[in-house]
Amino acid sequence: MKAALEKIKETAIAVLEQTTEMKAIEDLRVKYLGKKGEVTAILKQMGSLSAEDRPIIGQLANEVRAAIEGEITKRLAELKEAELNRKLKEETLDVTMPGTRRPIGKKHPLSQVLDEVKEIFLGMGFDIAQGPEVEYDYYNFEALNIPKNHPARDTQDTFYINDNILLRTQTSPVQIRVMEQQKPPIRIIAPGRVYRSDAVDATHSPLFHQIEGLVVDKGITMADLKGTLEIFAKRLYGDDTVCRFRPHHFPFTEPSAEVDVMCFACHGEGCRLCKGEGWIEILGAGMVHPKVLSICGIDPEEYSGFAFGMGLERIVMRRYNIDDMRLLFENDLRFLKQF
Ligand SMILES: [Zn+2]
Repeated sequence: MKAALEKIKETAIAVLEQTTEMKAIEDLRVKYLGKKGEVTAILKQMGSLSAEDRPIIGQLANEVRAAIEGEITKRLAELKEAELNRKLKEETLDVTMPGTRRPIGKKHPLSQVLDEVKEIFLGMGFDIAQGPEVEYDYYNFEALNIPKNHPARDTQDTFYINDNILLRTQTSPVQIRVMEQQKPPIRIIAPGRVYRSDAVDATHSPLFHQIEGLVVDKGITMADLKGTLEIFAKRLYGDDTVCRFRPHHFPFTEPSAEVDVMCFACHGEGCRLCKGEGWIEILGAGMVHPKVLSICGIDPEEYSGFAFGMGLERIVMRRYNIDDMRLLFENDLRFLKQF
């Protein structure tokens, strides 16, 4: 019996040393130490031993059991460590590796400059007004003192939905809509998309953006117009900006003017940017025509006002020295990423 126990111990330990699967080791535990295991089977025969042999064999059996148990624990620990080392080696994490870059978008240059313009006028107490891009002929032309057959319509050919509905050619109809709904004092700017049936080239697009402004109150004069627009030009182009007001004609303002700023590249000398003029036109403006005020139900004897309008694309192109308007609409990321 003693020899049998020694034999079990020897075999068990030899087998355990060869085993590399955790599951197989658990099976061996059952095979040797389980209820129907080999060591247990020996212990069950102890009843047949003499009184003096019993404790000796008992003790030996416990030693064998402990030895096998110890070997199992040792092998399991070894296998666990080997498994951990294997994982550490395979799943190396290099904290110095660069992370995955997620590209972050940013505002289109048109939106950037529009935000800047809005900020300047909001700072002077203006509100922002909006109107529909699909507009009635009445708001786009007639209420702005441009009746059917008026020559000004030729320069503003647009896309017609039907005889009375069109894509607006200017943001000026917003002036009419605001004056119809709101009594003076009025102080608004109206930025938005406008349309003309122009062929696409470096300086024309059938879709572009305008920013319209309107002030109506008691006692508004040309001096208010000049002061407001000069402050605007200085905020946009710098404090040393010089403005020039040239007489002009618009059907919906009287008197009307075009506003130039002295070329910031050559300071009036003449260069490529200003096409040798020394001045750059930035917007059109004028005192709101009394007829337009009357059409909107505002008494021109009591109130007066001024209005102005500018093209956003031209401001952006000049700001960033862009020579082709098409670049602003193509949405080529290689181009847009520069701003
Ligand atoms: Zn110049």
